[in-house]
Amino acid sequence: MKVISLYCATANSGKQREFQQAASSGIVVHRLGQCSCPEEGSSFDENAISKALCYCNALQPKDELGDDALVFADDSGLVVDALDGAPGIYSARFAGSDATDDTNNQKLIRELRKVPERRRTGRFVCSIALVRSENILGVFHGKVEGRILTSPTGKGGFGYDPLFFYPQLKKTFAELPSETKWKCSHRGKAFRAMVKMLKEKQ
Ligand code: IMP
Repeated sequence: MKVISLYCATANSGKQREFQQAASSGIVVHRLGQCSCPEEGSSFDENAISKALCYCNALQPKDELGDDALVFADDSGLVVDALDGAPGIYSARFAGSDATDDTNNQKLIRELRKVPERRRTGRFVCSIALVRSENILGVFHGKVEGRILTSPTGKGGFGYDPLFFYPQLKKTFAELPSETKWKCSHRGKAFRAMVKMLKEKQ
């Protein structure tokens, strides 16, 4: 079987760790250096595409990627029903431009303080764009449904994981081992859809 090499365009260390451990038989995921790409799109798809193209263009000469290098980027976030879909594409900076995971989580707890248990539904959503040179080869999607807790639980993961309760396993994403999170997460699902397409085209 031919090995597929993919270049991962993300500055988020939590995502980077997840993609690295996703490397399965026949897939090698390389890290790309840091790159600042504006996120100005109005959807997860648009942001994923612009991030992948931005990394591809900015890093190609420096990293000596060939023209045929496959570069992928994800845009993801938490969509909360009681907040009309917020924080959505603004998940990373929900609490402001200098937000941290902690300040984002605290803001989410505050905004939902009057929302009863039955209405605390939401989902993580992920779009992954795969590009080669200037060409968009595909956009792949994944989502996972859950409930938003009133206080953080668990030490693993990143971002909103400690507040995201996954009913099927009766744990938050921050309480799951990383391999288990990868099996059920929005990002894992979108990544596997991309790999499936690449393997079918081989
Ligand atoms: P992006 O880098 O613009 O895609 O921002 C994604 C943001 O969404 C992250 O900074 C997190 O706040 C949140 N997010 C996305 N995926 C996850 C996840 O798997 N767990 C927890 N938070 C996530």
